[in-house]
Amino acid sequence: MPDRAPQPVERQLPTEESRDLLALVRDMIQREIAPRAAAEEDAGHFPREVFALLSESGLLGLPYDAEHGGGDQPYEVYLQVLEELAAARLTVGLGVSVHSLACHALAGYGTKEQQAAHLPAMLGGGLLGAYCLSEPASGSDAASLRTKAVRDGDDWVVTGTKAWITHGGIADFYTVLARTGEEGPRGITAFLVPGDAEGLNAAAPEKKMGMKGSPTAQLNFDGVRVPDARRIGEEGQGFAIALSALDSGRLGIAACAIGVAQAALDEAVSYATGRQQFGRPISDFQGLRFMLADMATQIEAGRSLYLAAARLRDAGRPFSREAAMAKLFCTDAAMRVTTDAVQVLGGYGYTLDFPVERFMREAKVLQIVEGTNQIQRMVIARRLVGPETR
Ligand SMILES: Cc1cc2nc3c(=O)[nH]c(=O)nc-3n(C[C@H](O)[C@H](O)[C@H](O)COP(=O)(O)OP(=O)(O)OC[C@H]3O[C@@H](n4cnc5c(N)ncnc54)[C@H](O)[C@@H]3O)c2cc1C
Repeated sequence: MPDRAPQPVERQLPTEESRDLLALVRDMIQREIAPRAAAEEDAGHFPREVFALLSESGLLGLPYDAEHGGGDQPYEVYLQVLEELAAARLTVGLGVSVHSLACHALAGYGTKEQQAAHLPAMLGGGLLGAYCLSEPASGSDAASLRTKAVRDGDDWVVTGTKAWITHGGIADFYTVLARTGEEGPRGITAFLVPGDAEGLNAAAPEKKMGMKGSPTAQLNFDGVRVPDARRIGEEGQGFAIALSALDSGRLGIAACAIGVAQAALDEAVSYATGRQQFGRPISDFQGLRFMLADMATQIEAGRSLYLAAARLRDAGRPFSREAAMAKLFCTDAAMRVTTDAVQVLGGYGYTLDFPVERFMREAKVLQIVEGTNQIQRMVIARRLVGPETR
């Protein structure tokens, strides 16, 4: 019996335009992304030219207003595009999601002048963005960040270290959260810092378990001067802006997780229908059939959950609890599904000759970024039983 070739996911898309968009994305994936994914991940190569192409094709600004060069697409469409990009290569899907996260502050809280000055280049002018919240000593407890911005005339002088920055060292702009006032969440302000600012230096990229093509680096701000015209929102509003960006960003991570899980399931189905043991394809054995059925069910449930949250967002309704649930469920599902995919391939699954080991390593990081899954549970529990008593 031949391998069963994976079928494209049947998607519910709201408009003819969004169906055309998905066809364009699938074509780009087949030609430009999928064929190089394994080798470039292995070599730790970041596909900058793919991001240039995505920008040129309007795919780096999909959920933002057309007025400033965005694609004007609802989140439910944008996330399904992300899912397909991440299935082909997580470095690309997550990179688009992080870029979108980096644009959120200016698009949502910038003045009209700031938006007109910077957004078109960010959304479709070839620029690549990064989002700088985490620091060496503040990850989950992001409100305790220490990077300082001190007012000096018309400028702010930024000093400190940001950690774990996706696209750190290669981004054209950084959305940076820095302390301008009191301790805690109310003393934080957001800034848009150009990538070539004087005094801004990146360390060598981290050596990671997976997503090796995506550079993650510490950034050192050594007295970087940032004009007040690049402050986003009010002084002290930065943490609220950062959290609002993360609500949307978490949906991006959820969609990426389902993409990775779908890619793993496709490999597992294809392998299980081709591999023979005991004179039959291993897909004949109920033990494996049930495993594949569970994998598919988790993927479908995750997709429904992130789409339900996206549709709330598209309708202008609150979606922060649902975004935390989607991030938690989809990334935990991706971890289980990719681990099971390795099992379905047996010994071959444990080698670098098949992509499922890479999917398993990639799934792990999604349980950590943009709020670990423990932090998502805290967000959800607070909605149920109120804040912790201390
Ligand atoms: C590949 C990669 C890319 C990243 N990209 C970015 C980026 O672009 N921008 C950015 O700002 N950051 C980025 N991050 C940082 C990421 O958001 C943090 O790693 C994450 O928020 C966790 O912070 P931490 O690593 O300091 O872990 P810690 O906060 O030290 O947590 C360690 C462990 O303790 C648990 N924990 C902490 N507090 C609690 C609690 N109250 N209750 C229960 N458990 C708790 C955590 O869940 C975790 O398991 C990236 C990280 C990675 C690995």
